[in-house]
Amino acid sequence: MPEGHTLHRLAAQLEENFIGRPWRVSSPQGRFEAGAKRLTDRVPERAQAWGKQLFVHLGPDIWQVHLGLYGAFSFRGDSSFTAPATLGAPRVAAEEFTPSYAEDDWIIPQPATGAVRARIHVHNGWADLRGPARCAVLNPMQYEAIIARLGPDPLQQPVGETDTRLLEQFRSNLARRRISIGAALMDQAVIAGVGNIYRAESLFEEGVSPDTPANELRGAAVTALWERLTEQLRTGFAEGIIRTLRPEAPELGARGGDLRLRRHWVYQHQGTPCLRCGATIAERELQGRRLYWCPGCQPLPAATARS
Ligand SMILES: [Zn+2]
Repeated sequence: MPEGHTLHRLAAQLEENFIGRPWRVSSPQGRFEAGAKRLTDRVPERAQAWGKQLFVHLGPDIWQVHLGLYGAFSFRGDSSFTAPATLGAPRVAAEEFTPSYAEDDWIIPQPATGAVRARIHVHNGWADLRGPARCAVLNPMQYEAIIARLGPDPLQQPVGETDTRLLEQFRSNLARRRISIGAALMDQAVIAGVGNIYRAESLFEEGVSPDTPANELRGAAVTALWERLTEQLRTGFAEGIIRTLRPEAPELGARGGDLRLRRHWVYQHQGTPCLRCGATIAERELQGRRLYWCPGCQPLPAATARS
């Protein structure tokens, strides 16, 4: 599933290619026809990501997109329309095409292939949304209700800064939950934007067992986890992929050179020796998603282990 950094990249991409320009919206597949009618022939004002949610604001109408497990946007256009081929779940690369234009000088999009829920089209390009978990037009009350249920998103902080208000929200959200920290990090009401990979990798790097009760994580440990997630999400936003393992990491020493293609410490490395301590990386299911951790680097706190 796309994690928060992908949604922020998507919002930035929509800002670059669509926001502030007249657009046309359609639903080639038909399932978003009424919504498309409402949004088309207008000028989108702002694209906003909050965790795994994307919102595009058009006055009192807000287009909400949640990519879920399979959703993605694909982008096409002429040479003045710079965008990656896709953002979201992995897709095949787009084929070459020669742009042609209608009488009003708008580019003529290629026929939609597959189940395109929504197509957004500006004069020099277009984007197709396929497979979202949610695609809807909200009114301000519905939007506020969704926002109110979302926890703080580390990518809402200005680059290089910690917003203590967001950090304290995260702290108080954890303090009110008796579920494990492994479960809490996936709860978008606790912290928004973290998915399975960031959960595994942030807890590993902080040496926190995923089974630690969320309300037992306190003080500097909460701050360090927030800072770690912030750094990881920012790197993912900048690079477009999640890479938490760096070959130059000091603890890898000379081994780093052989690990250039490996991106993660524990995520999907179950059954292999931990690169830090040599213990075997463990894996099990938690609430329907795979959980990965190193029992050597992430022991349960003694108090929890006893109870
Ligand atoms: Zn280890």
